[in-house]
Amino acid sequence: MLNHYQTNLVERKALTNDVIRCRFQLTSPAHLAFCAGQYVIMEVPQPDGALARRLYSIASAETTTDRFDLLVKLVPNGAGSVYLRGLAIGASVNFQGPAGQFYLRDSHRPKLFLATGTGIAPMLALLEKLRVTGFPTPVKLLWGLATIKDVFYLAELKQLKQTDARFDFQIYLSRETSLAAVSEPDRPDFGLGHIDVGLKSLVMSGSVLGEHDYYLCGRREMVETMRQTLTDQYRVPPGQVYFEKY
Ligand SMILES: Cc1cc2nc3c(=O)[nH]c(=O)nc-3n(C[C@H](O)[C@H](O)[C@H](O)COP(=O)(O)OP(=O)(O)OC[C@H]3O[C@@H](n4cnc5c(N)ncnc54)[C@H](O)[C@@H]3O)c2cc1C
Repeated sequence: MLNHYQTNLVERKALTNDVIRCRFQLTSPAHLAFCAGQYVIMEVPQPDGALARRLYSIASAETTTDRFDLLVKLVPNGAGSVYLRGLAIGASVNFQGPAGQFYLRDSHRPKLFLATGTGIAPMLALLEKLRVTGFPTPVKLLWGLATIKDVFYLAELKQLKQTDARFDFQIYLSRETSLAAVSEPDRPDFGLGHIDVGLKSLVMSGSVLGEHDYYLCGRREMVETMRQTLTDQYRVPPGQVYFEKY
């Protein structure tokens, strides 16, 4: 049974040309308890009075329960996108939730987080949860984006990598043909192509992929393809692959 929540939009920040971060303050009830990795369901009022629903993963920490952040890719003419882009700061927004089975499982295995686009949202909540517990197992994030202009949260990821030796990340740019547009100090954190290139280089460097747990999030097609690649090509037991499909 999902709970209903009333919130106010208190902040909207453009992270790239088509990704925004929206912050919602709970008004009634005053708190939303959730597990890092879960999503909420936003009610989108339609011109005919009907309510559409759009799902968004919570990007903020599960320890903060009086407000939450969503990272939203703005899709041209998308109902949720148009609604969120047009809302005034302070406007009331209704949600249901929390929902979903995408949360951290206890395990001694190192973790690989595979995300594309705003599929990074639940990963940020999961990373924060792991950070506060001192990264019990190593975590590597492979994040797929199209171009250098689509990159956000780089400074935060670099900071996390600097302070926690058990965290590492690599961003893959699928539509760039060179890394010339990436500043030189950042270049070691970038690769060209899709995130499967990152998996191949892990294999080349001696990692046994079957010994990791996997957390996948992004567009449906990417998640399906990666799941199949992991289980069929790299013989990862399906029970070690957790996923959320957008
Ligand atoms: C469990 C779950 C969690 C999700 N979490 C997030 C999240 O944290 N952040 C987020 O941005 N999205 C997330 N999504 C996707 C989100 O729910 C919407 O489907 C998406 O934002 C598009 O909604 P919309 O109303 O703006 O567009 P819609 O009105 O649904 O679609 C308008 C048109 O755009 C196309 N379209 C839809 N998505 C995309 C896309 N990504 N790129 C290009 N074209 C597209 C559709 O095919 C359609 O033709 C999640 C989905 C699920 C199932």
